[in-house]
Parts: sequence; C-alpha cells; structure tokens
Amino acid sequence: MHFHIMTLFPEMVLDGLHTSIIGRAEEKGCISIEAVNIRDYTLDKHKKVDDYTYGGGAGMLMQAQPVYDCWKALDEKIKERKSSEQSEDGRTRVVYVTPQGEVFNQSKAEELSKEKDLIFLCGHYEGIDERVLEEIVTDYISIGDYVLTGGELPAMVMIDAISRLVPGVLNNGESAQTESHSNGLLEYPQYSRPEVWHEKRVPEVLLSGHHANIEKWRLEQSLERTKERRPEMYEAYIKEHPPKPQKRR
Ligand code: SAM
Repeated sequence: MHFHIMTLFPEMVLDGLHTSIIGRAEEKGCISIEAVNIRDYTLDKHKKVDDYTYGGGAGMLMQAQPVYDCWKALDEKIKERKSSEQSEDGRTRVVYVTPQGEVFNQSKAEELSKEKDLIFLCGHYEGIDERVLEEIVTDYISIGDYVLTGGELPAMVMIDAISRLVPGVLNNGESAQTESHSNGLLEYPQYSRPEVWHEKRVPEVLLSGHHANIEKWRLEQSLERTKERRPEMYEAYIKEHPPKPQKRR
C-alpha cells in the first residue's frame, strides 16, 4: 500500500511515521510513505502558498494553484506506476483531513486499507480554497470534533491506523482482529508476568490453559468493559448480537 501526503511540513509527517512498527513496515516493503511539499509547486516568486480570504475574516487561506499542481503531478506519477505494473487504473482517492469531515473510525480504516494508493491532503492556516477541494477531493475525514492547527497529525493518525491493517505490517496478524473496535467491543483486560504484582493476582482462568474458558472469560470482560466505558457502543453490539435465550430445564 502506498501513502502519499500533500503537506507544507513533509519533515513533520516523515519523522513521525518513520519510527517503530510503521517505520519497520516500510523497511520490509509492506507500505511506502512519501510526503510532497505543496510549496514546491507554487508559481509565486516568493514561494507564497496562502493569501487573505475574500469577504474578510481572520487568518490566511491556502491557495488553489499550488495544491492543484501538486496533486496533478502526484496523480500522474501514480497513474504511470500503475500502468507500468499493469494494475487497474481506478481513480486514486484523495482524503482531505478536515474537522468538517465524517469522523474517522476502525471501519473507515478497514475500508481505506483495501486501497492500493491513498493521497492525504493536509490543510494549514484557515484551510484551503474551496474550489480546488471541489476538483480533487474524494473523501472528507476528521479525527474528531475539535480543531487542530494543521492536517499533519490527523494524516499521521489515519495512516498509522490504516497501516496496521495491511497484511504483514503487524508480526502477529491476529492481534489486529481481536483489538478494541474490531468487533464492535472494547478489548478485555490483559496481563503479563509476574503472576502477582502489588498483591494483585492475574485472574486464575488465564493460567488454566483451558482455551474455551479463556475465550468465554474474555468475551464477558469485553462486554462488561464496553457497557461501563462506552454504553452507546454496547447498546449497538447487543442489538446486533442479542443474548441467546436460556434453555428451559
Ligand atoms: N477553518 C477551518 C474550519 O473551521 O473548519 C479549520 C482549519 S484548521 C485551523 C487547519 C487545518 O487543520 C485544516 O485545513 C485541516 O487540514 C486540519 N485539521 C484541523 N482539525 C482537524 C480535525 N479535527 N480533523 C482533521 N483535520 C483537521
């Protein structure tokens, strides 16, 4: 999977994403991450990429021209690569990370992880001229109902969550399937050595080696935890998985 990030701060996203699991996944060749500097595409002789907003108001807005030219160059490069690989030439999705988008979640991450290429567009200042957004953006996605100074952190959050779902990125492929949000529940509590710490014992069932009992315990714990911490999520889960009626004796 290839991630392409359009940004005014390429070093910020690359520094953040070239570490730990995501960095190793890139070294292994499971994913690739490139950041393109929108400023390299401005036609302004002073390298300016922003200007005042029409109608007045505070702050500067990123202009359409550098964003469009940056996208065009990137899109053409992706098309060329796809045609040399003889892979299908569907339009590459362009995600504008914005507080005005649908809120990102695990199922969106799963959906996006099926793409071969993804372009992320990071805004800054007051955002980006609407006209270029209308022409190039396919998805408007937010990381939550609050406003950040730029789109770099949201793009990094989404790329991290999507990458974990790409085959080969996690050493233990199973762990992405059992984690919180993958099945509509929060994950059960987990324990490691030692068996007793600060006089707290690891639950006995986890030491039993009885897989069926462990699975049952984990599901009960997941349900309990979700009910307590995320009641709306619990309600939705129960609606889809109504408890089986007890057998009469
Ligand atoms: N004026 C914009 C508005 O009110 O919707 C906010 C602009 S914000 C200061 C600058 C940039 O940060 C946005 O263009 C977007 O790329 C990014 N951004 C800020 N908050 C975000 C969020 N919650 N999710 C995704 N991107 C966000």
